[in-house]
Amino acid sequence: MRLRRAHTTHTKEKFAERGRPSRERANRVTGALDPGAISRDFDALMCDLDGVVYRGDSLIEGAPEAIRRLRERGVKVIFCTNNSRSTVNEYVAKLAGFGIDALDDDVLTSGVVTSEVLAAQGYPGKTAIVIGDRGVRDALTSIGVVLNDDAASIAAEAVVVGWDVNFDYSTMRRVSSAVRNGAKLFATNRDSTFPAPEGLWPGAGAILASIEVASGHTAEIVGKPHPPMMEAVARRMSGARRIAAVGDRADSDLAGAVSMGWATILVLSGVTTRSEAGDLRPAPDLVVDSLADLG
Ligand SMILES: [Mg+2]
Repeated sequence: MRLRRAHTTHTKEKFAERGRPSRERANRVTGALDPGAISRDFDALMCDLDGVVYRGDSLIEGAPEAIRRLRERGVKVIFCTNNSRSTVNEYVAKLAGFGIDALDDDVLTSGVVTSEVLAAQGYPGKTAIVIGDRGVRDALTSIGVVLNDDAASIAAEAVVVGWDVNFDYSTMRRVSSAVRNGAKLFATNRDSTFPAPEGLWPGAGAILASIEVASGHTAEIVGKPHPPMMEAVARRMSGARRIAAVGDRADSDLAGAVSMGWATILVLSGVTTRSEAGDLRPAPDLVVDSLADLG
């Protein structure tokens, strides 16, 4: 068990503010956390995927066992990813391949939440240009959005930006023109990078930045830490008494949790290094090497 608590005084004050029983506060202040402390504190957990459960196609050691232990203690786990590349079914299959059982309702992607946002804003039956893979494309077509894939056309009422390995200058030029022509700009997320086995790769936020600059418009963002995704997670956790979020990114996973009043757990198995973790403000409630340290 390698627990590392960040910024004791700040954490002490934060937990005191949340009115936790004095015995629990005392445990945290002295650092006397035991292996079950987290799961006794929380009965629902928003669990990021990339950098937490796996890194690319590589499982993070001990993650399936940790998920199993948390569930055995009654913690409801919702897997939540800003990555819009894959469909929910594909994520369920990927998790199963790692020995982690999940139902469709246990997995929330930014692609699915993007389709919920566009449905709520009346886009079914309207046309969108989509930068992104099947996760967001399938979700949008499932609610009746018509995708314009004609590279010579900028006709669209919406432009949706996600991560796309085929993104290039001509696509940037096309969608920027569509936005300047009146299409509303949405983005699955603003993550600048994501963890690949060999290092950090540019994320959807890097693609989006070029389009915002070129079009002169700012996107409505769906994914963590923005309200559409956070509220979608909260709806899946209705009835929970206390919620925690575990993730590897401060500016998405942890910021989203803070905005909802949830506790924050940072893992060092993804994009954030130990030295970077020490500089975070607000400090995470807990910093652990990996998910294996929970449960
Ligand atoms: Mg992550």
